Amino acid sequence: MTGHHSAVEKLLASYRAIPEGTPVRLAKRTSNLFRFRDEIQAPGLDVSGFDKVLSVDPEARVADVQGMTTYEDLVDATLPYGLMPLVVPQLKTITLGGAVTGLGIESSSFHHGLPHESVLEMEILTGSGQVVVATPDNEHRDLFYAFPNSYGTLGYTLRLKIRLQPVKPYVALWHVRFSSARECAEAIDELGAQADFIDGTVFGGDEVYLTLGRFADTAERVSDYTGQDIYYRSIRDRYVTARWLRPDGPPTDVLTTHDYLWRWDTDWFWCSRAFGVQNPLIRRAWPASKKRSDVYRRLVALDKRLQTSARVDRWLGRPPREDVIQDVEVPVERLPDFLDFFHREIGMSPVWLCPLRAQDKWPLYPLEPGRTYVNVGFWGTVPQKPGRLPEHHNRLIEREVARLDGHKSLYSTAFYTREDFWRYYDGTTYQRLKEEYDPDRRLLDLYDKTVRGR
Ligand SMILES: Cc1cc2nc3c(=O)[nH]c(=O)nc-3n(C[C@H](O)[C@H](O)[C@H](O)COP(=O)(O)OP(=O)(O)OC[C@H]3O[C@@H](n4cnc5c(N)ncnc54)[C@H](O)[C@@H]3O)c2cc1C
Repeated sequence: MTGHHSAVEKLLASYRAIPEGTPVRLAKRTSNLFRFRDEIQAPGLDVSGFDKVLSVDPEARVADVQGMTTYEDLVDATLPYGLMPLVVPQLKTITLGGAVTGLGIESSSFHHGLPHESVLEMEILTGSGQVVVATPDNEHRDLFYAFPNSYGTLGYTLRLKIRLQPVKPYVALWHVRFSSARECAEAIDELGAQADFIDGTVFGGDEVYLTLGRFADTAERVSDYTGQDIYYRSIRDRYVTARWLRPDGPPTDVLTTHDYLWRWDTDWFWCSRAFGVQNPLIRRAWPASKKRSDVYRRLVALDKRLQTSARVDRWLGRPPREDVIQDVEVPVERLPDFLDFFHREIGMSPVWLCPLRAQDKWPLYPLEPGRTYVNVGFWGTVPQKPGRLPEHHNRLIEREVARLDGHKSLYSTAFYTREDFWRYYDGTTYQRLKEEYDPDRRLLDLYDKTVRGR
């Protein structure tokens, strides 16, 4: 804690050094946002002193963690105690603070909600330069509840106390195949209740999988998808059809708990194929230490900066492409409608599914507590439509999500009008807290940051 206190002192000094009128921003080495901005010259807040796990209490199953600690480091600190955070987002460099303010999600979210729902207290540097401790029932409770989905526009969390859960050495998997999204949606509540983890992968309208995961003490054979084999492809090879699934039947695959947590990171779900990493020859030559989501993301950022893919498309006379990189949540019963729309209008595959249930009300991302939603994640590009706006498909998605009573995450691009935006993300609560915790607007406004890309 001594180190933490001196890091806070240093941070406050660097905050005070940023001239008034200059927006305060984080200077951070990694990011999992998908909004690429021009390089900003002004110095940001140096938060390099906030990347440690301060303590793990195995009795109370609580960890005290600095806000910029990556989940990779957090898991490395808790697994030796036989514990893990209740929800571990799949990408190794997502930080605890980033997942809480930017809504991470994973296959344990059906039981445990989103990462912010296992937070017991948060130390926050507010826009006004104060450091406060917010809990669900102290004088800063409104800030605590509005923090998720505020994307660092109400303050930065420097330290968080979070709950942990016990693990076993292995996770046994059942990839269950459905021949329609409707069948899959109808099975989610029942199958989710029988498993520790549940997520899904859609390869087409008639090829939909749910993957159930259960902790296991022993395993006869354990798979490894960090070498030549590729996790998402294994789903199509090792499945049981919904009809033949038996609660006590053998699993279709088994991973160590560590490898289960990072199963999607090695190939950034399936997005590594854009770099050739799924070609067996390139895969063999590609260093194991570089099969990581942060490496691929850096390559994408470089491509955006140099405009390489866009130039190649132009030379080859291909239409320009639109990034369609989004995660949305729809109520489980609307999942078939959303996927019908998606196959028809967007046509990308695979698509990731992750059922979730919020445990409480969080005003800036108002999911109904206890109701089952399904997160649908898709990350790729489609050709732009001649005569349409360059963001045509993204706008279609926003409209469809609103029509289906869903919500859209804000880590990527967004195109809402100001009015719609504040209706979906509770502008009244946000503006009240902005006034209280950032009266001089040192931090960006949420709409400006997430829609106007500032
Ligand atoms: C292709 C893609 C796929 C994704 N898939 C998943 C997924 O499957 N599961 C999942 O959980 N998430 C996923 N995400 C989203 C990711 O969880 C969020 O973008 C998250 O906010 C990233 O956290 P980070 O630590 O990398 O934060 P950054 O990218 O560095 O920052 C995200 C935002 O949070 C703010 N911020 C960062 N740290 C703090 C802090 N300590 N306090 C307050 N504000 C802070 C930053 O200012 C910024 O606005 C995906 C994102 C992409 C691009």
